Formats: sequence, C-alpha cells, structure tokens
Amino acid sequence: MDSFSIVRFMLIQIQHRGQEGAGIAWYTSQGIKLIKNFGLVTQAIPDLNVRTSVAIGHVRYSTTGTYMKNVEELHPMYIKDGDLEIALAFNGTITNYKEIRKELSNRYMFNTDTDTEVILKLIHSELKRGRDVLESVRRSLLKLSGSYSIVLMINDRLVIARDPLGFKPLSYAEVDSSVLVASESSAISTLTGIEPREVEPGEMIMMYRGEVERHSLGVDIGKRAFCAFEYVYFSRPDTVFNGVTVYEARKRMGSYLADLEDQDIDMVVPIPETGRIASYGYAQKIGRPIEDALVKVRYMGRSFIMPRELRSLIAKFGVVRSIIKNRKIALVDDSLVRGTTMRNIVKTLKNIGAERVHVRIASPPIRYPCFMGIDFPTREELIAYGKTIMEVCKHICADSLKYICTRMLERAIGKRDDELCMACFTGLYPIQMDILEKEKEFLRR
Ligand code: SF4
Repeated sequence: MDSFSIVRFMLIQIQHRGQEGAGIAWYTSQGIKLIKNFGLVTQAIPDLNVRTSVAIGHVRYSTTGTYMKNVEELHPMYIKDGDLEIALAFNGTITNYKEIRKELSNRYMFNTDTDTEVILKLIHSELKRGRDVLESVRRSLLKLSGSYSIVLMINDRLVIARDPLGFKPLSYAEVDSSVLVASESSAISTLTGIEPREVEPGEMIMMYRGEVERHSLGVDIGKRAFCAFEYVYFSRPDTVFNGVTVYEARKRMGSYLADLEDQDIDMVVPIPETGRIASYGYAQKIGRPIEDALVKVRYMGRSFIMPRELRSLIAKFGVVRSIIKNRKIALVDDSLVRGTTMRNIVKTLKNIGAERVHVRIASPPIRYPCFMGIDFPTREELIAYGKTIMEVCKHICADSLKYICTRMLERAIGKRDDELCMACFTGLYPIQMDILEKEKEFLRR
C-alpha cells in the first residue's frame, strides 16, 4: 500500500472519533494535493491510485467552527505561499485561539472561525520570519493553550506533536522504512500487528527523508491531564492510552460499580455498545447473567457526536421484549450526559413489563462542560448539572441510580489525579479559562 491508501485505511479505523467529514493531504513532485469532503471516510474519500511517500489525514468532530456547513473547516487545512506549503490536521481544542486570531488579523484573512486555521496561520507567520521548521513549530505550539495532538506537513517534512499536558492520545510506529502516526494506537496495531509507541506529552517528532528526530517542546509543567473521558467513552477499547488498555480500564470501572450494588438484580443489560465492557466487569462481580436485551440499530453512527437537534430524533435501539417481562434489570452505561436516551430506554423497558429498572453508570456524574476537545460545552444541557443523584434518577424514571466516584475512576484507569483531566466530573480545569465566556462562545456558534 502507498501512503495515501494507508492513511485512508487508518482513518476508517478511527472513524468513531469524527463523522462529519474526512480529508487527506499528500505530497507530490508538484506540491501538496488535498481531498476533503463531508461524510464518512468511505463516502468522502475515494481510494485513489496515487503514489506518494508522505500523507496525512483527519476525520472531523467539530468543537469550533460550524457543524457541516463549510467544507474549508475540514482538515487537513492547507496554505500555500510560493514554495512554502503547509497542511495541518489536529485533534483537540485550543482555548485561546480567539486571542491569537486577533493578534494575527492585521496580517491574515480567515476563512473559518476555527482554532485549526489559527494554528496553521500562526505556524506560517513564524516560518515567514525565517526561522527553521522545528523552531517555528515549537514557538507556535508554545503559544497555544488547550489540547492538541497535531500532524503537520511542511512541504515533504512531517512534524507531529502532543501538548505538554497530554490531553489526547497520539501514537507512532516505525515499520520497515515507514513511519505510521495515528490518534489511537489501535489504528496502527490493526494495520501492522505491532503495538506502537505513544508520543510523550510535550514531545515533537520530525520526519524527513527517512530520518526521525525526537525533540521536546521544552516545557515541563510538572503534571499531566490525560482526558479521563477517552477511557470512559471516546477511545476504541483496543487502544492503549498512556500505557493503559482502554478495555481493561472500562472493565475495572464496571467492577467498581458492582462494589456499590445493594439491590436485587436478575440480569444485567448493557447499553450497546457504550456500556458493554463496563457491564462485563459489573456482571462478573455481582454474579448475574448479561443479556443483550437492547439491540443497537447499526449504521446509525455515534449519536453523541451528532449535532444536538438530530440526537433526540433518533430511534437507536430495538428491544428483545420476551426476556424483559417481570425481571429486575441493571441497565449499565459508560456515562450519562444529557440523559434523554436513557430516560426513553427506561420508560420503554417499564412499558414492556420490566419489574424494576436500576441504572448503573460506570463513571462519575458529568456536571461541567469540556472545552478541551469534547462537545458538551454548556452546563444546562448536562443532566447532572445542579441536580442531586436522586433528582437525576427521578428524571430518567429509574428505580435507582448509581455512579462510580472520581476516586474509583482514577483507580480504574490506574493514574493519579494529577495525571488526569477529570474537569467534566469535578469542575477543576487543568488550564485557566473563563468558563462563562467559553459557554457564551459556544452558544454563538
Ligand atoms: S473535561 Fe472531561 S472530556 Fe474534557 S478533556 Fe477533561 S476529562 Fe476529557
């Protein structure tokens, strides 16, 4: 396979990280070429027969800019200035991009309201000062606040970097004479059969004509902020993030949930697919069978990463009615964000004749918005914000409701609290920002 086909294959492997659109940029002797379109990878990008040695790609999940209104917002974003060409794709959210954009606005026109375009033009501005590639990228990244795992093509040079707090995953592997880079290790291990290395927080790696140079961004903040929600929901279960296999962390979350059980349970029903792995840990410990009483409507995509107005319209599950009647059910999910789907499921199971429906959540209550890469940005839309667990339980019509606590989540992941971001659970943000202002920014989107 050449680089284009490899990148396309790996994008399909990480399709769960973004469904709005996809893009690939690749290097040719005539410069960088680019294709990007709305839709899933297989719809957006044909398997072109191109020969290239360097390519980067991206699947979009928007946290700045619009939802599927402007194709320019898709990554990779690209700039050409004479012989200098830059293509950039990144995972994360930059919290101070509006301020940086303001500083750049006397020299640059902006076609989108995205953090990505700001990073691209910031790097371009540093290169135009005559600095070398590494120094330009380093200086640019040090101005950013927020989360980023980034891949950059500067002509035929490839640079990758992970923010100093390490919010988001980024892995790479040297295989034969190639280097593969991906947001999740599973995209590389599926292709190669080997477990890749993770880029360290604050690490920057440059690849050029077969040489791989590792550098540091040169900042050590003395703590980390690995996104706990990657372990709870976002990452694929076979991904290894900061040395921890996501599957194992999720199973331990379920096992801690079982430690809290004080109800008589006949059977455990996972919410497919999000609650499945936690339900294994939970069911094993309480010694009750798992039944797949809920059947996911396939090919629907991940509703959590769809726009708000579409989420509530979707019928996501069928129910195996005959196994529900007169049973005391523990309904297990990974997290409870808005609560709308859970309320519908609980009501449906009760209407069918379930005797009791106990909801069990393998993470703590999400009470605060995220501005570092996940789209639950206002408190009002979070079911647990400003409510007691009893009130949430009533709202979702369950007979009882239990969550694991933040200490249990830390133990399940196997990291200390100064290594994790758990701001959506605790309200303690690892970077300084004005939360009210950020919420207003989101509402203006
Ligand atoms: S606030 Fe939550 S979702 Fe956002 S980075 Fe932190 S842990 Fe992840």
